[in-house]
Amino acid sequence: MKNFDPAVATAQWLATLSPQETARAVAYTHGSHWLILWSFLVSALVAWIIVRTGLLVAIRSRIERRRRRPLMASFAVALVYSVMSWVLTLPWSIYESWYREKQYGLSSQALGGWLGEAAIGAAISVVVTALLLVAIYALIRRARKLWWAWASGVTAAFIVIGLVISPLVIEPIFNTYTPAPNGPVRDAVVALAKQTGTPSDKIFIYDGSKQSDRYTANVSGLFGTARVAMSDTMFKQNADLAEVRGVVGHEMGHYVHAHVLWMVGVLVLLSALAFWLTDRLYPLAHRLLRADRVGDIADPAGLPVLALVLAFLGVLATPVFATMTRTMEEDADQFSLVHANEPDGLAKALIKTAEYRAPSPSAVEEFLFYDHPSVENRVRRAMEWKATHSPGQPPRP
Ligand SMILES: [Zn+2]
Repeated sequence: MKNFDPAVATAQWLATLSPQETARAVAYTHGSHWLILWSFLVSALVAWIIVRTGLLVAIRSRIERRRRRPLMASFAVALVYSVMSWVLTLPWSIYESWYREKQYGLSSQALGGWLGEAAIGAAISVVVTALLLVAIYALIRRARKLWWAWASGVTAAFIVIGLVISPLVIEPIFNTYTPAPNGPVRDAVVALAKQTGTPSDKIFIYDGSKQSDRYTANVSGLFGTARVAMSDTMFKQNADLAEVRGVVGHEMGHYVHAHVLWMVGVLVLLSALAFWLTDRLYPLAHRLLRADRVGDIADPAGLPVLALVLAFLGVLATPVFATMTRTMEEDADQFSLVHANEPDGLAKALIKTAEYRAPSPSAVEEFLFYDHPSVENRVRRAMEWKATHSPGQPPRP
């Protein structure tokens, strides 16, 4: 295209954000980086408190003394630990996930609604975590030296099962999913689905505005349960078809390129590494927490020690996770440009995500923390695409 400068066009898109909006996004994003550290300190404090109560040691000894049932001991300890840890962390969670989101105008959910959903989520996670921990402690006892490798396999199985059943069992608890209603939006999405090889019967809209005002869509599920779901925030104003195609084209990229399977593969390797490191770091954390009455890593009462090490490794892994997802997000953008060919539609949608992800971070900040490429980089790539490709004819049925 003649006389079209991608750099100028990118700057124009970014200028559609007011200086106040940009400043608020920067404050929110920088604050979110710091939250990683504060959250780790909170989990360290919680681990310390739980060790101090001596409750887990008491439960473990009681069950083991009466009847030697290590599986039951680890299950009971894991349940009690998960509940205690959730309750002790709750004030922080309320600040981090509810109050702060409201403060920045990103959510309008009432505290009661948020708490209800958080409690349901916690109940599910407490049971699943307890089952996973029973398996992990059994592996530590049996496969002593190589437990970390086996444990990563079991974790992968839990993740895959979770991904498969999530759209069927978990997501409907929190939101109502309905097939996208008939009309131009649905027609455009179905046409794009046929073109890209995405199942066109699996395009859903959910009431995401209940929890968050974020302009967002996602692909969830795995194998037969995979589906594209768009938050109703995308349809608050009159839907712009170019924008919908740009966004949905991106989500279809995740689906067609099987990003979730790549992610599972990386998670298996990372969890093996994390468990191996946990095995090595456990004695150090044990000393730091002064967990004198707790045994070695095979002792389920040492769960707070184990959790502390894993939380620490989680902080260190932030750039690894960020880079993994950022790479896939860039790939999905590219997919959208190739198949939907809506650089302006995509840019328009991307600008809206700048309210919770500051658009122009430094390269270092983007590398360390950004799980999506920065809006500036994404819009620039869209504009570079626009400069070298003629506008497509959106297929209109
Ligand atoms: Zn994406």
